Amino acid sequence: MLFPAAPEADGQAQTEPQDEISADVPEGDLEEDGAAVPLAEDWRPSSVAISFVTDGASVEASLSCGTYSQESVEGPPKWRRRPFASDKISLAKGRRPELLTVGDVPVEIGSRWRDFRGNFLVTVHVRVLSESTGDERLDIPQMLFQVGLSVSPAAGAQFMEYDTTRLSGGDQETAELRLRYRNRKVYAVGHGMAADWEVADGCCTRVGLEPVPAFVVPAVETTGFPENTPEAQSLELAHLMRMDSDPEPVLQSLDAFTDAFAEWVDEQMWRAEGFGDEVEVARRIAGRSQDALERMRAGVALLRDPAQGRLRTAFALGMAAMRLQMRQSSINRGGPEAGSKEPQWRPFQLGFLLVSLASTVDEKHGDRDLVDLIWFPTGGGKTEAYLGLAAIEIFHRRLLHGTAGGGTAVITRYTLRLLTSQQFQRAAALVCAMELLRRTDPRVMGMTPFTIGLWVGKDVTPNNRLAAKAALDRLMKAARPEEANEFQVESCPWCLTPMVPKSRSARPKDYGMRLLGKDVVLHCVDTSCRFSDELPLAVVDEVLYDEPPTILLATVDKFARLQFKPAAGRLLGLGTPFKQPSLVIQDELHLLSGPLGTTVAVFDAVIQVLLSRMGTSPKIVASTATIRASDEQVQGLYGRKVALYPPSGLDDDRTFFSRPVENGEGRLYVGLMPQSVSQPSAVISAVTPLIEIPDVLSSRGEDIVPRDAYWTLVMYHNSLRELGRTGTLVVDDVRARLEPRAERLGLPPRTVRAERVLELTSRRGAEQLPSDLRALRVRVDESPTAIDVVLSSNMLSVGIDIPRLALMLMVGQPKTTAEYIQATSRVGRGDTRGIVVTLFRSSRARDRSHFETFRGYHEALYRSVEPTSVTPWSLASRDRSLAGALVALVRQSFNQLAENDTAGRFDLDDMALSDAVTGLLDRFLTYVARADDLEVEETRRAAWSLLRDWDRRAHSARDADETLGYERLGKIDTALLKRFGQMGEGWLVGDSMRSVEPSVAVNVQEPQEEAHRGED
Ligand SMILES: [Zn+2]
Repeated sequence: MLFPAAPEADGQAQTEPQDEISADVPEGDLEEDGAAVPLAEDWRPSSVAISFVTDGASVEASLSCGTYSQESVEGPPKWRRRPFASDKISLAKGRRPELLTVGDVPVEIGSRWRDFRGNFLVTVHVRVLSESTGDERLDIPQMLFQVGLSVSPAAGAQFMEYDTTRLSGGDQETAELRLRYRNRKVYAVGHGMAADWEVADGCCTRVGLEPVPAFVVPAVETTGFPENTPEAQSLELAHLMRMDSDPEPVLQSLDAFTDAFAEWVDEQMWRAEGFGDEVEVARRIAGRSQDALERMRAGVALLRDPAQGRLRTAFALGMAAMRLQMRQSSINRGGPEAGSKEPQWRPFQLGFLLVSLASTVDEKHGDRDLVDLIWFPTGGGKTEAYLGLAAIEIFHRRLLHGTAGGGTAVITRYTLRLLTSQQFQRAAALVCAMELLRRTDPRVMGMTPFTIGLWVGKDVTPNNRLAAKAALDRLMKAARPEEANEFQVESCPWCLTPMVPKSRSARPKDYGMRLLGKDVVLHCVDTSCRFSDELPLAVVDEVLYDEPPTILLATVDKFARLQFKPAAGRLLGLGTPFKQPSLVIQDELHLLSGPLGTTVAVFDAVIQVLLSRMGTSPKIVASTATIRASDEQVQGLYGRKVALYPPSGLDDDRTFFSRPVENGEGRLYVGLMPQSVSQPSAVISAVTPLIEIPDVLSSRGEDIVPRDAYWTLVMYHNSLRELGRTGTLVVDDVRARLEPRAERLGLPPRTVRAERVLELTSRRGAEQLPSDLRALRVRVDESPTAIDVVLSSNMLSVGIDIPRLALMLMVGQPKTTAEYIQATSRVGRGDTRGIVVTLFRSSRARDRSHFETFRGYHEALYRSVEPTSVTPWSLASRDRSLAGALVALVRQSFNQLAENDTAGRFDLDDMALSDAVTGLLDRFLTYVARADDLEVEETRRAAWSLLRDWDRRAHSARDADETLGYERLGKIDTALLKRFGQMGEGWLVGDSMRSVEPSVAVNVQEPQEEAHRGED
């Protein structure tokens, strides 16, 4: 819509308060909000324009639109549309604008030409020349509706790529992205509307404005191999598990696998030479594939080495366990082929095993310190890939070191509790499979049991045996046991039978938890399940410390316990007869950025120091779905170098292992930027038709898609405040609008039920999440209780996996592209293709810019992912975390200083202790140096200043005959540490990475009350 121009004097009458708080994940600022007062022109624009680059001196434009005039009839006002179309409007450099009369509206169409690298940068605009009456209603006949503007080059001329300078310069990674996405050209930018273009035979033939831009981002599929080839055979787990009994055929198929990859790598290397000026960039990209190939070959060579019999056995057992787990998950999924098909790796998964194998099983390997980072779009099977590696390593260390190979072998770390319980299920199924092998396979029978432990915050699981017993009592008494289940395990990880009955049962055996001695033991309630006696799961902190589990799943936060709990060190192998954990897996690495990443990084240095106590260091693998500048991020986090897997190719998102689907189908992205309506009104207008989708689809014919497909609308918000406001709108205003519309459109009435609106934010407690997720999984064709609308914050973008969700309204553009990709990829993960509608605000510069460049942005989403960074050793971060880090190091390193009442024994005059502390600190500082060379000396000074302060306080406590403890617990007089909210002397520390800085989450300034204008 174009409006009559506002009178000059009234230039900035329309302002909308900028008011959002970004409070859910505590990071970031208020971006540009409030920085610019929106202009009247943004609110009721009188012109639109499009910019492009051409080599000709003229262009041809066409304009179409409609005007409306009021009919003089009785009753409610009626409007008649008068269409307008004009083509072949010739515009040239230096020529005055064309004046047209559209209906009764005077309109100007003109162009502005600027020299641009030997070509012209041209902006073509359409402007309504009449002036506003000041009354919106009286203005209507002077407005242009459904404006369509398109421009073609002059005969013999062409349109060139727009703004090629955008990605010029910059770092190596930018240069690589520019090269990889060289064919995703942007030909135009809109002003006030979105730009679109047509390309034929590599030439842009037309640019135009699009009121509602839409773009399908094709799904990414993993590649496969032709059937009955040796490389296809290499993917079969039943084949791979013969690695120790009959290695040669297995090794030959692995050779065929690497040869297939090698062929692709050769082609990349060869093509790189043809990149002219950019040959160095192209060689660098292709060179990484070459590195990956060499590492894969080294993995196969190691398996072939006659001296590596135990590795071959470990590999065979790892494959056998993964095969059992995959078969079981196929049986659990049901369907006609359930369990009958032999499980297979996807090529990218097997490739990952081979790439990372040598440096994982060999603690002295040259690539041991390299962080192998799996980069793959969400849902690609990353988890299984690293679980496969974990399985091999777990068996290998037991075969190699006997009993000492037990204990905690693998630590898997997550950033979110919610994610953790979902991932727990998959890893637990692998451990169950390993336990089954222990019952049947002679190679495994003598081994000690395999277990998996969940180490998460105490408001999620009971942290000692007493609490566990109390939790069990509460559970047995609860009317709705599902909601009272504090043991985090909802169903048997092996057969998925629910662990607790739906309603209270008098029979204890209906519950999957029972008291055995002092322990709460978990088992499957299905008597036919192989784990009806006992499941190899532990969720109680105290039990985990006593018997460190084979695989530990932990949230990054939980490692803050190392400051307070000496026994927590046992999970790192400290004070146990076992070798230290040899594999650390960090899931969703991209979430470790900003303040959380920075705090985590400080503790990671502590963990790495502690994990290298016995002279070796663990292999670290990580996974991510979106990342940039991973070099810097990994270096900041771990002080290590990183290798991205799979290595990218020379062409956009294609790798040897993945490519966009052939038919181009994928997730549909639609952009809306309403003009001249208030935000509440815009939200209501956008939501209403989305709610109608299921009925519209079924009115179009039988079963185009299942009714459930687009039933649940996810509304994604960038702030809690906005979310709160939407909540009321959805229930009242949308409902009010649905009814008359249904009548008019001939649709069955649908309503939004207040009790079927689900909020998914950090305001909901962790204990509510499992039941929220259960509610979200309910399909409307199964139960009328299916959720109508989800009001979600950015919490949704981190690891919620509900395949039936397929429809999303984004209320405003998220702050980062990484978040946008993460959030929108939560819909359409199942059988139904996802639809994402983004509602942009015309009053926000960032939203406008995203709307105007909608197509170019979506054509190469990954190109726009922002670099993430962590700055663990900066002054601010040290102030926050260094004290806690030192306490953790010292308590976990010196037995005499471990217990709470021993802080007063710290004495730097004791030469032996002083030397040992110096040595420990030096080792810690080597990690600091690797991460951030510039901050080492400052960190050293800060650390010694803290240690001397500790020494001083210990001295005065001893002089005064007082007990200096670490914490204010039990019989101590003073404490070295204090927690937030505690007064008096002491080092401020937090017991979770997040509570380290509570002010971010709490002290948000309440913005001015806002006054909505034009509220309807
Ligand atoms: Zn079971």
